[in-house]
Amino acid sequence: MRCLMFACLLLCSLSSLALDRSRVEGYLLANGLQVILKSGYERDHVSIRLVVGVGLDDFPCEQRELPHLLEHLLFSGIDDTGEGGLEERLQALGGEWNAFTSAADTTFVIEAPARNQRKVLDLLLAAVRDTRLDAKALDTARKIVEREDGGHYGHLQRWLDRQDIGHPASEQLAVELGLKCAERSDIASMTLKQVQAVREHWYAANNMSLIVVGGLDRLLPAYLERTYGELPATEPGERRDLDGITRQAEQRRDLTRGWLGDSARLHWLFIEPVLDNDHDQTLDLLSRYLDWALYDQLRLRHGLSYGPSVRRESFGDSGMLSFDADLERHDIDAAVKVLQELFEHLREQGLDAETFARLKEAAIARESWTSQGNSALADYYWGALNDYEDGRFADPVGKLRQVSLAQANDALRQLLATPGYLRIEKPLLGYDELYGLVALVLAAMLAIGLIGRRRRTPDRPSGATRER
Ligand SMILES: [Zn+2]
Repeated sequence: MRCLMFACLLLCSLSSLALDRSRVEGYLLANGLQVILKSGYERDHVSIRLVVGVGLDDFPCEQRELPHLLEHLLFSGIDDTGEGGLEERLQALGGEWNAFTSAADTTFVIEAPARNQRKVLDLLLAAVRDTRLDAKALDTARKIVEREDGGHYGHLQRWLDRQDIGHPASEQLAVELGLKCAERSDIASMTLKQVQAVREHWYAANNMSLIVVGGLDRLLPAYLERTYGELPATEPGERRDLDGITRQAEQRRDLTRGWLGDSARLHWLFIEPVLDNDHDQTLDLLSRYLDWALYDQLRLRHGLSYGPSVRRESFGDSGMLSFDADLERHDIDAAVKVLQELFEHLREQGLDAETFARLKEAAIARESWTSQGNSALADYYWGALNDYEDGRFADPVGKLRQVSLAQANDALRQLLATPGYLRIEKPLLGYDELYGLVALVLAAMLAIGLIGRRRRTPDRPSGATRER
């Protein structure tokens, strides 16, 4: 009996130790900076994310890279030792950092030993607040951003971009629909003044969230108030409206990728509907269902593709759901037919209830292990900032559970209401076509040779010569 009681107590205490990742210590500093603190499993380490609410989408096409340029500039050094000196200081603290500028935000990502968390946060604050922007640093940052964008943006690349050559199919379609800029922004013409303006306007305390997960220092809240609490706030600016669909796109296009090969990629893209309730969870579950349906059809039943998948992406204000498949060039027509039949079946019959229930349970089960560890948990909070309120992040399991089959079917009906956009990526020539071309050239050469010989050889029966 006593053993049993002990076991019960042990089990109870173990379950109470399990991390409730939805619950965090979250509060605003007086200057409006959002702080999110969470004690993680790993006590000797902290994951830090400083999220600044400015991204590429906040600027028009020709200035789109401005926040990215600023992000790189902020690593150029806080004193005479420059970029190298800054990096050395972080190394000495045992930390690593990086930063990312996405469509929606700019985020500084740091992993560091828990014992140095305040010193690392000091360094991050200095980089954000004290970095002096000058022409030399701007020039270096320009070069880096240019290289990250795929090298120097010359006339040829600009021309190719305008022809939609070299972009993945979804980006190509986004450009066609007016959801994405056709050309890269002109980094060379960006000035120090413009970058400084971005910093002044957007790098304000009330436009930042600081996330720290792991072995939290007891003095951290007081420290943050004293340090990050001193960052100035500004009048929050209006965020730019996201681009919407303004143009029509062709229903089917073949896109040339490379010169020679027998492989091809099929992309069948649909614009996601905007749902009144549980938008993201419903489309997430629907895309899982469609991913399985595609795999079942193209790989298991017809053996046409090795790794077909369904993917969600967003461009401007629209979501795109694409069915992707790697194919052999000669299987393209067969695959298109299989997909047409799949879409037709889904339009008529809707989702299979049993399969939907199974995939929904799998998605729910997945939630319990996808954000393990300080770093993954910090990334999770970063991605879910929009779902945060009063010390709680919305519980993803509850939200998934809420999605009904009827909701998913409704989303499916709206998604497949249009024929979608088909994009086939393939090299200019397949091997069969190359062999055909070579044979043709050889035949032509042979024919020319024969004609030449006939001209030089005298006609035997008549015996006449035609010397020139
Ligand atoms: Zn970059």
